[in-house]
Amino acid sequence: MIWNKIESARREDIEALQLKRLQETVTRVYSLTPFYQDKFKELDLTPNDIKTLDDVKKLPFTTKKDLRAHYPFGLFTVPMSEVVRIHSSSGTTGKPTVVGYTQADMDVWDEVMARVYTMAGANSDDIVHNGYGYGLFTGGLGFHNGAAKIGATIVPASGGMTDRQLMLMRDFKATILAATPTFALHMAEVAKKDGVDYLEKYKLKAGIFGAEPTSAGLKAEVKKAWAIDYHEVYGLSEIIGPGVSCSCKHSDLLHVFEDHFLFEIIDPKTGKEVEDGQRGELVITTLTKQALPLLRYRTGDITSITKEPCECGRTMLRMESIVGRADDMLIISGVNVYPSQIEHVIANSSDVSLNYLIIADKKGHLDKLEIQVEVEEDIDFENKELLEKIKKELQHSISNNLYINVAITLEPPHKIERSMGKAVRIIDKRK
Ligand SMILES: [Zn+2]
Repeated sequence: MIWNKIESARREDIEALQLKRLQETVTRVYSLTPFYQDKFKELDLTPNDIKTLDDVKKLPFTTKKDLRAHYPFGLFTVPMSEVVRIHSSSGTTGKPTVVGYTQADMDVWDEVMARVYTMAGANSDDIVHNGYGYGLFTGGLGFHNGAAKIGATIVPASGGMTDRQLMLMRDFKATILAATPTFALHMAEVAKKDGVDYLEKYKLKAGIFGAEPTSAGLKAEVKKAWAIDYHEVYGLSEIIGPGVSCSCKHSDLLHVFEDHFLFEIIDPKTGKEVEDGQRGELVITTLTKQALPLLRYRTGDITSITKEPCECGRTMLRMESIVGRADDMLIISGVNVYPSQIEHVIANSSDVSLNYLIIADKKGHLDKLEIQVEVEEDIDFENKELLEKIKKELQHSISNNLYINVAITLEPPHKIERSMGKAVRIIDKRK
């Protein structure tokens, strides 16, 4: 099932619509936002210069810094009387980034989330257990309103209280789980305490997971632990919230809702477009946003895109699951390495756990990468021969997958310090 026929439209029709909407957006910000007026002046640019989709490259970038500098409402293009909703990022330092929605923006958000649910096979017969946090974070209410749009039954569970959530999921017979993948995995760990047949108590058929970069290994674990279809959703509050793209049942690639979001992939260092299919930083221009339209927003997320058609019939371009953050990229002896690639290898090894630390350093003039990782609970830490074997195998998989040499230090379980917030996984001593 496809929610909206635009998702399977001919590419030339999609692109014609994108160009029309891009021109409207450019005209809108040029006439209403002093910030963009100044930028256009600097670049000696007017809206009339945007004649093709390719001309998007002439436009100025917008960054998170720009949003913070205009805190809270400085980049809004409508009076507050037309703003019906505010959300904000969970920024750990300083002022958060604030985003606003008109009713038309809310309608677009509901629409793209309805596409997400439909892609995950959900309809009005389904019971959606929403484990995303409700509040200023866009996850909770984004998933809530999308479920309402398709007429599903929504259980607004929000985050936390795992035992209670599991009880509600069992008793209400939830069929769709919406949550972050780490929370879904945590819930499965708790559910497993009920015994080997724990799955029989649940009716879940699919999950829609997102809001954090996820390695293929973690995805596979969530899928297996709940025996469900895994759909990944991508989004960010600056652009709309969840609902920028989502994966269908045919592959891990995420269909982009291109009629609302124009994608570019650039080299984060030079700002230039990368070759088709290459990885780089995702840059998004909103095409229909009313309250807070953004030109060429630098997401900081690393991915690649493809126009290859999908078996499901959708024609909109697809993106790879986020590989990492542009800020997190390590350059080791000239090779670009994202910590998530290392995490993926670790997740695929049965002897080590996902508690790890990556340390980049210099030895003389050479880059050196060390990975400290805890062995699984069932590994005998006194068995030196076994430890040596685990180390060799891990080293081998990493050099095979990432083309770099690493030093591995194995640690006993619970040795690496746990963080209560966002885990610190990388220490770059070269900085
Ligand atoms: Zn598809």
